[in-house]
Amino acid sequence: MERHDFVENVAAKEPRPLGRSIKRGILNTCPACGSARLFRAFLKPVDICPACGEELFHERSDDLPPYLVIVVVGHVLMTAYMLTDAMMPDALWVHLVVWVSLAILTSLLTIQPIKGGVIGLQWALRMHGFGDTPDPIEENRKPGK
Ligand SMILES: [Zn+2]
Repeated sequence: MERHDFVENVAAKEPRPLGRSIKRGILNTCPACGSARLFRAFLKPVDICPACGEELFHERSDDLPPYLVIVVVGHVLMTAYMLTDAMMPDALWVHLVVWVSLAILTSLLTIQPIKGGVIGLQWALRMHGFGDTPDPIEENRKPGK
């Protein structure tokens, strides 16, 4: 499939609500129906939604969720660290214990909702085969091309 055919196919389809899809992903539900669970394990999404049958194995969130976690958690924790350090200067070991623990905890708490949001974004934008058309990148990876 040529690139312009792919773009025309995507543009001709009914648009999927972006905000609703991301929200459903963040809430660990299928971006299509919003009723079944999105993840079968901590960071493993289901292949096919048991409620609506939507194929969710097309997701390719790759490294985006960890990058977003670093951006969000890093900004929040660095701001909190700098504010508390200015108001209550503690020993270095106290800061190390508190902030490293908080960084690990908040990263673990936010990675799954952020990955769900990324999957919802990809589904809404019909990326990577979510739009009933084969993923052009996958097509290019087929043997003989
Ligand atoms: Zn579903």
